[in-house]
Amino acid sequence: MTGRKTTIHLEDDADRWRWVCPRGHRTWEPTNYHFWCAKCARQWSQDDEFSPEFDELRDKRSGETKTREEIRLVTPAGPYEHREGSA
Ligand SMILES: [Zn+2]
Repeated sequence: MTGRKTTIHLEDDADRWRWVCPRGHRTWEPTNYHFWCAKCARQWSQDDEFSPEFDELRDKRSGETKTREEIRLVTPAGPYEHREGSA
C-alpha cells in the first residue's frame, strides 16, 4: 500500500456534492467495506444488474472513481474506519 488516500468529510457539503454513487446520487452512506445508496436501493429491483451496494465512489469533478480502500472517510467525531474492529 502506498498510503495516499483521498479524504472525504462525510458531513461536508462540498464533499457530498462532489462524490456520488456510480449512478450519480448523493444519497450514499458508508458501510464497513462498501458504500450503500438510498436512492439506488429505492429504485432497485431483482432484475436490475446493479446493486445498491458498491465499492467505488465517483468524483464528479474529475470523473474518476475511487474504491473504498482508496478513500479515507472522516466524520466530525474522527476517522470513520476506526469506529469498529480492533484499532
Ligand atoms: Zn445511487
